[in-house]
Amino acid sequence: MIVWQVLIGNFTCIAAIISLWMHLQYKFYRLSRTQLKIGFGVTLGLCAIASMLLSVEIVPGVYVDLRTSVILTSAVFGGPLSIAITMPMAVAFRALMGGAGAVQGVVTIFGMSMLGLAVHYAVGRRPFGPMGILAMAGSAGLVSTALMVISPMLSIPGGFRNIGVPIVLLNVLATAAIACIITYFHRFTLERDILRAALTQAPDFHYVKNLNSEFVVTNRNVARYNGRQKSSEMVGLTDFDITDAEHARHLFEAEQDIIASGQPVIDQEEQIRTPNGKERWFLTSKVVLKNRHGDTIGLAGVTRDITHHKMLEAQVQESRDLLSQAMDEMSDGLAMFDSAGYLVFCNEQYRTSFPRSAYARREGAHISDIVRASVRHTERKDLPTDVSEEWIQSAAKSLHSNKNEEIPLFDGRWLSLRTRMAKDGSALVVVSDVTAMKQSEQSLRQLADHMKGLAQTDALTGLFNRRTFDEAIASECSRAVRSGAPLSLLLVDVDRFKAYNDTYGHPAGDAVLKIVSQCLKKIGRRSTDVVARYGGEEFVVLLPETDGTEALALAEQFRLSLQEENIPHTSSEFGFVTSSLGVSTMGGGSPFLNPTELVARADAALYGAKRDGRNRVHAAPADTWFPQAAGSQEN
Ligand code: GH3
Ligand code: MG
Ligand code: MG
Repeated sequence: MIVWQVLIGNFTCIAAIISLWMHLQYKFYRLSRTQLKIGFGVTLGLCAIASMLLSVEIVPGVYVDLRTSVILTSAVFGGPLSIAITMPMAVAFRALMGGAGAVQGVVTIFGMSMLGLAVHYAVGRRPFGPMGILAMAGSAGLVSTALMVISPMLSIPGGFRNIGVPIVLLNVLATAAIACIITYFHRFTLERDILRAALTQAPDFHYVKNLNSEFVVTNRNVARYNGRQKSSEMVGLTDFDITDAEHARHLFEAEQDIIASGQPVIDQEEQIRTPNGKERWFLTSKVVLKNRHGDTIGLAGVTRDITHHKMLEAQVQESRDLLSQAMDEMSDGLAMFDSAGYLVFCNEQYRTSFPRSAYARREGAHISDIVRASVRHTERKDLPTDVSEEWIQSAAKSLHSNKNEEIPLFDGRWLSLRTRMAKDGSALVVVSDVTAMKQSEQSLRQLADHMKGLAQTDALTGLFNRRTFDEAIASECSRAVRSGAPLSLLLVDVDRFKAYNDTYGHPAGDAVLKIVSQCLKKIGRRSTDVVARYGGEEFVVLLPETDGTEALALAEQFRLSLQEENIPHTSSEFGFVTSSLGVSTMGGGSPFLNPTELVARADAALYGAKRDGRNRVHAAPADTWFPQAAGSQEN
């Protein structure tokens, strides 16, 4: 009976030493991994010695104790370093004890160490769970059974059943219990280490304060920010120890409010001037801590340095302000459409450029809605008012291309729209008021037309001038040659005009020239007819696609119409202003001529008319097909 009492005491002693070590290890958590392994090896060596001190001598020189469990534990949990300490301690002590089983004892210690190392490497870095504990206990059971079998104890009658089996069981139980204790402590320590690491290594500022706003725990960041090496140096301090009195009072009062009301503060922004004079921004959350009875026991806070974030935010805002200011101050309208045709942004000028559809031109609106509004309110003069939905859709689609347009608005303004595509498919539209430019362009065009008119016309009569006539006759001659159509020319000369001037004065002569030109215009009415002042009181009428007969009739018609004007001319043999005409025709049966020949023939005919007594029409003599009588009509 005494055997069991001793062995149970043996187990209790081992358990007590291991527990003590585990507590010490928890307390001295700063020890390095190697130091811990050495400590563990020494502790387990002491356990083995204690176990051997409390061993039971079953037969002389053969001792029974729990050293196998101890050796196994040292190798499995401590690895080679621990067992390298435990094993020599145990071997040395066993050798010192001596006896018949000394050699066997030493061999057992060595064998157990190797077995433990095998388990140690098999488990590796995985957490030691129930299976590991079972494996260890099983190993201990197997080894102690084997020892029992070869032990001289078996020579005692009923020794194996009465002593062997219980000892094996005790070894198994002791090993399992020791493994459980160590595993439990490892888990406990791991949990503590994770929590400690989470708090101390967290990137922000973490702290816990008691009801008096004194720091109870802080992480490393808090300590370093406040010039301390270790977080433990923060314990017991208050904000009054680390910041100026006014700020500390403010913090203290705010925290006391949180404690009193139980209301947390979440994401409160705070701007602080650091001791080196820099402005920094912080984001703080503080919550009250309660025990399980619901009593408030303290306050936990997290503060994040958001200075960088704030700076970026300020920069973004600044560029946004600058951009919107630039957009507001520019004279052009600016609008940006995304690739789907939605208006992303626009300035006020863009909207005011289109007063009738301004309501539709807002961010988020689609280009087709804008086109529809513009059409509906007849904003643009160049767009039809009654258009189909398809037309609107296709007009909207045409937005997405690089182009320059000038559009007339309902109020007389002209806008220039310049559309430029970006790589991402968005379109930037710049709208400028080009009314002034358009107006000056128009007046320039008018001026140019006017100048052209001046260059082409005769100032006194408003008829085409000689130069224009020369150009016209050249092109009409060529055209007549190409088409084969006849071309006729009337050459008109006012009779006795020098005498008229001498009698009535030059201005009166001018007035007569104007009347003559009015009469000429009546016969050269077709758009292709060219009535021109040839020089002085001589005029020409170029009549394309007019044959000799028609030309002669027109000439006669003019002669009579001037006569009907009945302008008194006392120095004329007729008593009123008359004119003589020479008519020449080419093509249409007669030979083709060049302009000079055409004029020369008309001139010759005119000369004939003068010679024959004036106030008459003569056809060019070569044009024999003219009825001769019509060529010499006289009033
Ligand atoms: P004829 O019947 O032979 O044609 O005699 P005429 O006096 O008309 O002929 P002449 O060629 O000798 O005279 C032409 C005159 O026409 C001379 C000039 O004083 C006048 N004359 C030429 N150009 C103008 C003009 O622009 N205004 C006025 N008032 N007279 C002009
Ligand atoms: Mg003349
Ligand atoms: Mg004349």
